[in-house]
Amino acid sequence: MINQRIPAIFIGHGSPLNAIEENEFNRTWHHIGQTIPKPKAILSISSHWQTKKTAITGDHHPQTIHDFWGFPQELFAVEYRAPGSLDLVERIKEIIPDVDVDLKWGLDHGTWSVLTPMYPAANIPVVQLSLGQTLDFPAHYALGKALRPLRDEGILILGSGNIVHNLREAVFRDAAFDWAVEYDEMVKQWLLKRDDQMIITLNGHGKSAMLSVNSGEHYMPLLYVLGASEPDEPLEFYCEKVTQGSISMRCLKIG
Ligand code: ZN
Repeated sequence: MINQRIPAIFIGHGSPLNAIEENEFNRTWHHIGQTIPKPKAILSISSHWQTKKTAITGDHHPQTIHDFWGFPQELFAVEYRAPGSLDLVERIKEIIPDVDVDLKWGLDHGTWSVLTPMYPAANIPVVQLSLGQTLDFPAHYALGKALRPLRDEGILILGSGNIVHNLREAVFRDAAFDWAVEYDEMVKQWLLKRDDQMIITLNGHGKSAMLSVNSGEHYMPLLYVLGASEPDEPLEFYCEKVTQGSISMRCLKIG
């Protein structure tokens, strides 16, 4: 059987409450899940799992990790019971031979806050890939490129982070900071031109880039999605909005 190529998707996940609230963001994620071909499994690259060396979740039944505090009890009660996929783990080991197979982590909210609305039935196996702390931006991008063939094998490569993410500056109002809107727009234009080098290389992009990318981990999943896609594939944007002053909810689908 020939597999249909599955798009590569980046979701700006924002607040963990997007898992359970009714809003424009999770309605869109649900819509994306309904309209793309059903994947055999999902490889999720979440901004919320950083390890020294790149790792993948190896559990048959990955646990739901509630990696936040100060949210309503209702959110701590969410369990996303998708199975793991040992087939996908084996396949990733072929692509990244020295990857660590981790049995302690599971699905953190970067993954389940998106997948709860996107695939509520939780019947598609999920493997998470960590962000290796020793890797620089070009190395994350290169890893995305190495994982690209998985899309032709029925695997959804899902990056979950935020293009603009600065919690230090986040405020509980909707008006966005100028620098946040500016950098989100800069990235949009580079994506449209598929100028991947500009997205990978932050140096020289000025203050808006430094404030927007801040600690980096919410930006890195985008590099995997870019690496896993080809410049001539169709690109679609969703949720083009900056919330809480400094969190861009921009999502994109390539392919
Ligand atoms: Zn986050």
